[in-house]
Amino acid sequence: GVLVVGGITVDVTAFSSRLPRPGETVLGDDITLFLGGRGANQAVAAARAGAPTWMAGCVGRDSFRRIALDGLSRHGVLTTEVRTVPGRTGVAHIRVDATGENDIVFTPLANTALTPAMVDRSIAATRGRVSVLLLQLEVRAEVTCHAAAAGAAAGLTVVLDPAPARTLPDEVWRHIGVVTPNASEATALTGIEVDGVEAAATAGRWFLDRGVRHALVTLGAAGAVSVTPERARHFAAFRVTPVDTTAAGEAFTGALGAALAAGLDPDAAVRHGMAAGALATTRPGASPSLPEAADIQALLDA
Ligand code: ADP
Repeated sequence: GVLVVGGITVDVTAFSSRLPRPGETVLGDDITLFLGGRGANQAVAAARAGAPTWMAGCVGRDSFRRIALDGLSRHGVLTTEVRTVPGRTGVAHIRVDATGENDIVFTPLANTALTPAMVDRSIAATRGRVSVLLLQLEVRAEVTCHAAAAGAAAGLTVVLDPAPARTLPDEVWRHIGVVTPNASEATALTGIEVDGVEAAATAGRWFLDRGVRHALVTLGAAGAVSVTPERARHFAAFRVTPVDTTAAGEAFTGALGAALAAGLDPDAAVRHGMAAGALATTRPGASPSLPEAADIQALLDA
């Protein structure tokens, strides 16, 4: 199984033909309320990819709490490690125009209440049932760093999607089994301009030099570069027709984590992640676009 520690939000998304200018009101066509947050999206991706999956994070005491919890359970994520804290559930306020251009106000709210002690409790509570810990950077950096160290100490394979990118203390890297930045995150973290396969391999080695066992730099439609101490290898992307690339990275990391938890070897797990990332781009939205195990297998077998 998989334990995800990270951010949970409700995504409030307004669709209009164009985005308003400051002070202006435009007429919207539709509005949706869905579970979101990188942590929650990874959890849904892992659960839909077939892994028993626990989400550890915080929601507030408000009406968005139910939307978040129902969204997790509807997709098969176990919510026993989600804590309800005073205050309000995190919100991403998103606006999308007819061309797909968007802007986002992300307000962490309850997500800031997640503590290292809560993470320890969740690792203890799922002991023996999970082998993979998935992390991102939407909760306080101190919490992610603690989770990485505690997860590694508990014998879990720690997978970090360093999104949104921010500088981390150097000692965190030796606790990370697999790091999965996209090109811009790899650039921000390593200072190496990741503009292709060669640069992605160089950036991957930057993480290995700091103690990460396996770096996977994702390149969207250009696939992914896998770097281990033995070798660097480019995987071409699956060919699909994208309609909305939101959550490709979460689909990738979630399905990768599920495959590692199922005992697949690293190359096979990368292929599962890439198939899930490709499929997520063929459907609109974030959590609603995340593929099921059967769809992933069908693309792998195609
Ligand atoms: P992020 O969403 O974090 O920016 P990427 O865009 O790199 O991450 O996507 C993660 C993975 O999903 C890629 O390595 C790739 O395998 C798959 N993927 C993403 N976009 C496409 C695409 N347009 N066509 C095929 N596969 C894609």
